[in-house]
Amino acid sequence: MAHGYMSSGMLPNQYKRLCANAGIGQISDVNLKKSMILYGEVVAEQARASMQDAMDEEIGDQPGRTLSIVTDARHAQRRNSYRSDIMALGQNNHKVLAYAPVTKEEQRSSQKHEMYGTTKLYQQFDELGVQIADHAHDRNHTINKFIKDRPPYADGTRTSNSNDTWHATKSIAKKFRKVASGARRNQGVTWHPQLADKGAAVKTHFYWSMAGCGGSEQALQQSLLNIVDHYKNQHDNCNAASRCRTDPNYRPRKLILQDQRAVEMLRSFIQKQDVYRHPSDYVLCRDTLYVESFNNACLQYLDKRIFFRTLNYGLRMNLAILDWNEHVDRPATSRSNRVSVANPRQNNGGKRVLSAKTNNFLRDLLLTFLQRVRTAGGLPDLPQGRRRNADVQEDGDRLSDSSDYSSSDEEE
Ligand SMILES: [Zn+2]
Repeated sequence: MAHGYMSSGMLPNQYKRLCANAGIGQISDVNLKKSMILYGEVVAEQARASMQDAMDEEIGDQPGRTLSIVTDARHAQRRNSYRSDIMALGQNNHKVLAYAPVTKEEQRSSQKHEMYGTTKLYQQFDELGVQIADHAHDRNHTINKFIKDRPPYADGTRTSNSNDTWHATKSIAKKFRKVASGARRNQGVTWHPQLADKGAAVKTHFYWSMAGCGGSEQALQQSLLNIVDHYKNQHDNCNAASRCRTDPNYRPRKLILQDQRAVEMLRSFIQKQDVYRHPSDYVLCRDTLYVESFNNACLQYLDKRIFFRTLNYGLRMNLAILDWNEHVDRPATSRSNRVSVANPRQNNGGKRVLSAKTNNFLRDLLLTFLQRVRTAGGLPDLPQGRRRNADVQEDGDRLSDSSDYSSSDEEE
């Protein structure tokens, strides 16, 4: 029962109400506290092992224990959070490799938690002798500076800094509105009608430039500036595969830039963007999608409206890590197509229907926990060899109930 309750992500008052309303007995507060301490240790050990495995997997057979990470801060509360966790995921396997918890005891200002935690993460990696090849994160300027200022590793390599492409391009469409529309008296001064139809296309072009620059800063900048020529209907430098080069009957669908003022406005708009000004942060075209997705998946265990104490918080965070590391990128069984009338551009290609979660970590937790309880209570061990299978067979119903329960309440 203690395992079922603690692994479910349920809140204490929900557990009490469930037991009271169903007319089943509940674990006393004293025993619950004791179980939680023991269970917390088991979960922490397993989470540590899981992150270690994930790290080895991410390093693979790359020489010199090198890996690339993507990080983001997760704040426990929505504002002025007492606690934050800086999560580091592998860029290839998308599993949690390490995390650094930060509280206000260590750093008063929750805005500075991300930087504080990132320093801790690098300490961890340095101690393990792991080198970071590339570090992607949302555009946090302190962290940009921190990564760039770090001394090179013994073999002379440095960590490259990458910023999230989604954040960079998201703001472009919004900023573009200022040059694409405005008051009539400012026409030709702050905005130009020949730019009015280009916002979404410019944003897409930024994205393709980052994805197609092959890691070259110069290629990225040239590709961005070529947006101007493309809209002037001059396609000499456009991508050889794009339609304006391959299709002999190509006719531009957007207004052609004829007014020199429109040309200059578009050029200076491009040159003002972060992606153009700091090309090295975008040449690898990294995104932080998976960390944000982890932060979302975490909510099953860690409700942002609840203030958890350290013991409970650590337990829940470790469960979230175990759950994520076992299930991230699990295969899809099919795609479901649901077209929304309100937003027909959404869900292009359908939503992936994922296969059911395997939840093997829950069984491992239960078995280890039971064994610890036996030891703590002076009960005899289960006979060797029967331990893993016997528990499953004898308590088969209870086990499958508990795993059914925890997989049915997660809707991603
Ligand atoms: Zn073109």
